[in-house]
Amino acid sequence: MPSFSATEVAFLMVACQQAVLGFGWLAGAALLPDSRRAALHWALYAALSAVSLVLFVASVKPGIEPVRALANLCIVLSLVVLQRGVWAFFGCARPWRWHLLVMLATGAATAFGLDPAHGAWRVAIISGALSALCLSVGWDMQREARARMELRWGAVLAVPLLLGGLVFGLRAARAVISPGTIVAEVTADSSLNVSAAFAYLVIALVFQLTLVALVVTRGVVELRRSSRFDALTGLLNRRAAQQALEDEVQRSRRLGEPFSLLMIDADHFKAINDGQGHAAGDRALQHLGTLLAAQMRDIDRVGRWGGEEFVVLLPGATLPQAQEVAERLRERCQALPPRWLDDVLPLTLSVGVAQWAGPADDLPALLARADAALYRAKQAGRNRIESEPPGGAPRVSVVR
Ligand code: GH3
Ligand code: MG
Ligand code: MG
Repeated sequence: MPSFSATEVAFLMVACQQAVLGFGWLAGAALLPDSRRAALHWALYAALSAVSLVLFVASVKPGIEPVRALANLCIVLSLVVLQRGVWAFFGCARPWRWHLLVMLATGAATAFGLDPAHGAWRVAIISGALSALCLSVGWDMQREARARMELRWGAVLAVPLLLGGLVFGLRAARAVISPGTIVAEVTADSSLNVSAAFAYLVIALVFQLTLVALVVTRGVVELRRSSRFDALTGLLNRRAAQQALEDEVQRSRRLGEPFSLLMIDADHFKAINDGQGHAAGDRALQHLGTLLAAQMRDIDRVGRWGGEEFVVLLPGATLPQAQEVAERLRERCQALPPRWLDDVLPLTLSVGVAQWAGPADDLPALLARADAALYRAKQAGRNRIESEPPGGAPRVSVVR
């Protein structure tokens, strides 16, 4: 039974921790289809860092420099794989060029450092590469998290890697400044090395938690998005549109401001599906969603009410203003029809317009008026707008 020094035990504990975390990411890859590629990279990262720590411990005894060289290669490769996992997670494809360069430099440094006389150079180059990789991964994580997930606290994600980058950077600097002591220091059984191993353990654990936090946060953001937005058009879904309408009713009751509603239905949409196929119909709906969203002010709300029917909420708009908006939408849709393969899809809109009639009005009545106006637009030949003044419609929704 070989006896281990305190330093070796500390490094082996870190290796065990990394191995366990590696299995955790393997399980994560099976459970999280959206993050599978990233989780597999992170499992490999943890496995490689565990292997490198075991190899490092095995190489401490003098005379087994090749094992130490292998440990160096493994730890640098682990961070390369980690960074590629971060890129995979955020869906940013980047070339291998920079990583290839790092691995070549590491390979050259380890080969050169096989001669114990060059040990300090090896430490300087390997530690420098590790420092650069830590800082680069930290930078990528916080930048992408803030840009793609709108995480205001994204910068916190970089803290463990920033610490790691600083520690490796200091070691590289010390290898250059006092090459005589650094090699002996790295392998010595000292309380400094034991503390370094424990610090590594904590930083590595906190870092893994930041990866978990990223995955969980993205799940929550996606869930929130899909509960509010329609998957096909990206507009508000019916539930969120209904909520926006209810909020506007409350606001209007409180402030006495007008607002209007457009109920929009694509004309003869079934003919597009029947003639060109369902995919063409989907394309037409996406086109319509983009067109509606592009025509609106920031304060307006556009939602997909169902099928090929859309609702537009125009805060502050009176009936004549809403009619103008409706007419503009109808004209734009006619002027900019969707394309599908080589065909132009015939897409026109019928629109029903209604204005909130004050505190005595209510949402079902307002929706019924917009619906009744839309029904009349259809009856009158489609591709037109109709309005329903207050008191002009039955309180029940018109079935078309
Ligand atoms: P009208 O002018 O009277 O509104 O005629 P229409 O054909 O537009 O109305 P109808 O209610 O007969 O048909 C609506 C069609 O919209 C039928 C349905 O299959 C299609 N539709 C609803 N949702 C989707 C969707 O998400 N994708 C596609 N491709 N078609 C859809
Ligand atoms: Mg229709
Ligand atoms: Mg319809």
